[in-house]
Amino acid sequence: MKKISGENKTCYLCGVNPANSADHVPPKNLFPKDYQVKGYKLPACSKCNNLLHLDEEYIRDRFSIAGQNDTAREVFQQGTRRSYLRPYEMLKSVTKLDLINRDTVPVIIKSPAGIHIGNTTGIKIDAKRVNCVSVKIIKGLYYHHLGQRIPDDYNFDAYFDPPNWLPDLLNKPSPLIGRFDEVFSYKGIVTKQDQATGIWWLSFYKSLGLIVVVENPTLAKEIKAQRETKHK
Ligand SMILES: [Zn+2]
Repeated sequence: MKKISGENKTCYLCGVNPANSADHVPPKNLFPKDYQVKGYKLPACSKCNNLLHLDEEYIRDRFSIAGQNDTAREVFQQGTRRSYLRPYEMLKSVTKLDLINRDTVPVIIKSPAGIHIGNTTGIKIDAKRVNCVSVKIIKGLYYHHLGQRIPDDYNFDAYFDPPNWLPDLLNKPSPLIGRFDEVFSYKGIVTKQDQATGIWWLSFYKSLGLIVVVENPTLAKEIKAQRETKHK
């Protein structure tokens, strides 16, 4: 955590406390150690900055195992593997490595036509923890591009590894786009009426996909009410 000096900004996460640290979006632990740029640096209070520390470590561990490129392998070696070999970690009755092994599952690879190609190993990932971290990432991307916070009452729905990537919508041009080498890329499409409402595509290690839908709660209620009156 680095201090931001000479700036009087408010934390991009809580919007209340003065920012006294720089938070990284996406989490900087997803990057190999020698990378110069590790995501966007955003003003945060130390409380919010540390809040998801354990979830971010969990995401780093699982994504570096599930990610299908060399960068994921590198992060696994430098971060995940080292973390489960830490002496205090190995003293626990259930170690991190036990949990990783417990969640490892065999996966059968099939061609699009359904022909058996081979077997590999997959790992289960806790959707709740992915959601927490993805909400923080979206809040960060939004703040980075628009300089504002997504209002606190907005709904976030995250879909991990979605089978349908809404290709028509994804192809729409948008300035909300970015990429950090082989680690992370994203695109956001927001509505004209309310820029905080929209859909975001996140990709980790060029292989793990996530769609996050951000919704204005008042607008969602109105649409739902309109639909219900139509059906009456
Ligand atoms: Zn805060």
